[in-house]
Amino acid sequence: MTSSGKKSYLFYQTRRRRPMLDQARDVYMWDVDGKRYLDGSSGAMVCNIGHSNPHVLEAMRRQMEKSTFGYRLHFETEPAERLAEKTASLTPAGLDKVFFVSGGSEAVESAIKLARQHAVAVGEAQRWKVISRQPSYHGCTLGALALTGYAPLTAPFDAMMRPMPKIPAPRAYLDGLDPDDEATGHRYADMLEARIVEEGPETVLAFINEPVGGASTGALVPPVGYMQRIREICDRYGVLLIHDEVMTGGGRTGRFFGADHWGVAPDIIAISKGFAAGYAPLGAMVAHERIVDPVLDAGGFLHGFTYAGNPLACAAGLAVIEEIETKGMMENAIRVGDVLKSRLSALMQRYPIVGDVRGKGLMLAFELVANRETMQPLPKELGAFDRLVEIAYDNGLIIYSRRTRGGYEGDHFMVCPPMIATEDHVEEIMDGLTRSLDTFMAEAGSALAA
Ligand code: PMP
Repeated sequence: MTSSGKKSYLFYQTRRRRPMLDQARDVYMWDVDGKRYLDGSSGAMVCNIGHSNPHVLEAMRRQMEKSTFGYRLHFETEPAERLAEKTASLTPAGLDKVFFVSGGSEAVESAIKLARQHAVAVGEAQRWKVISRQPSYHGCTLGALALTGYAPLTAPFDAMMRPMPKIPAPRAYLDGLDPDDEATGHRYADMLEARIVEEGPETVLAFINEPVGGASTGALVPPVGYMQRIREICDRYGVLLIHDEVMTGGGRTGRFFGADHWGVAPDIIAISKGFAAGYAPLGAMVAHERIVDPVLDAGGFLHGFTYAGNPLACAAGLAVIEEIETKGMMENAIRVGDVLKSRLSALMQRYPIVGDVRGKGLMLAFELVANRETMQPLPKELGAFDRLVEIAYDNGLIIYSRRTRGGYEGDHFMVCPPMIATEDHVEEIMDGLTRSLDTFMAEAGSALAA
């Protein structure tokens, strides 16, 4: 049934229906009944520059009047060429081969297939294992799903996938370690080395990680020294480093790529969400020339999607980057992100169940727990991950959650408004959040005291 009670011919994950969207502008969205929502998660951390940006709409309109599709085996298109050049100018030196796709899972699939073909091309065909982290999210297609450390999503498909090794994500806050101590970063990174050795270094193709953890870990910022040490370990064993920047790419953390905060260059980057910021389905895999050249020399990359380099999507992507740069949106993400983070942190004084606040720029999250000292999760019967989002939604505030800690043991919430958010929007978010937490606490009542 639709929200208006009619039979629906459309389905997604569940039968739950949502109000019909009417329009969206800047940080706000309206349903057909005129109810207004503050988009406090930019969709699923997608609409980084806000909704209905006039510069992007105009660029798309202009492109639409020229052409909306050119099959890549028939034509090159100017928007694809220009966006590839622009993207390469934003990546670390040498990472300037851009392969367009239509979304994040496709970008990750492309990255691991390119890595594999590179190994075959350079005579290392015994390398096939891609190590990833637990928990993590890298996409829902079977290749990307095999890398995803999130049992509720992967379990039914295990029989269809080759299992890939996992190492723990560096959740210092859960393990009682100091994230500002380099020893902590090294401790988690060294788990990669131990795993490579255990698996047999000659069989390990790549390591993939999200520079700032997304939906599965809730804006997890790596401890000091982690990113650099991971790079060293990959180099030591000839293992390619893939950064999944699907959520972090596009400026949300305050730098165009999340890994820019640590000055670490991977071999391959996957990017999507913020790349065209929801104006068109777009993603890319960006790889170092030294990875791409042997594959092309050996006969070509055996991979590609029909919509690759769609000129309309690329025109949108280009205009999005222009807006981010000319409007100083990354600087705003840092400035307003700092204000929002300190306001979220202040929730800890008022609500004992707010156990942790973390993130960078406007990629922020808070986690609810039963006990802040032990970080023991809330009773799962409360279904806080779902309930608080619903209450906030009723209050006209959209936040994002997904069960964390491997699936069923905890609740974190991403608060990631568009990078055009102001301090007034922060106040509105905090007002919606406190009202929602009050309602949640009142509903949960004795279950919280237990
Ligand atoms: N990687 C990461 C880090 C993501 O956050 C996502 C989407 N949540 C994906 C990959 C998959 O992207 P998509 O849903 O566009 O396929």
